[in-house]
Amino acid sequence: MAYVIAAPCIGDYSCVEICPVDCISPEPRDADFRTAEQLYIDPKRCIDCGVCVEACPVLAIYEDRNLPEKWRHYADVNREFFEHRRSASGDMQSRA
Ligand code: SF4
Ligand code: SF4
Repeated sequence: MAYVIAAPCIGDYSCVEICPVDCISPEPRDADFRTAEQLYIDPKRCIDCGVCVEACPVLAIYEDRNLPEKWRHYADVNREFFEHRRSASGDMQSRA
């Protein structure tokens, strides 16, 4: 289980500031910041504490099993963001 950020995200970083394990990305210093449409939660690092839910001003964060039907695919969207990032990082390391 993990928490998931869905479509309403306005990127105000309230959740980033409060997350105890720093598993929400991207931040302005990240290479993929410019192309990201929203923020995402890394399901491999999220500890399911839930504190980000109340910090979000637009109700964009849900436990994955409680995602509204229309946003159910956002569990994959969040996971794939980090898979792509890890894959890109591996590509860069293999080229070094
Ligand atoms: S549930 Fe907790 S660990 Fe997971 S993203 Fe939210 S604040 Fe971070
Ligand atoms: S608190 Fe909500 S709106 Fe703000 S960045 Fe996080 S998910 Fe997006």
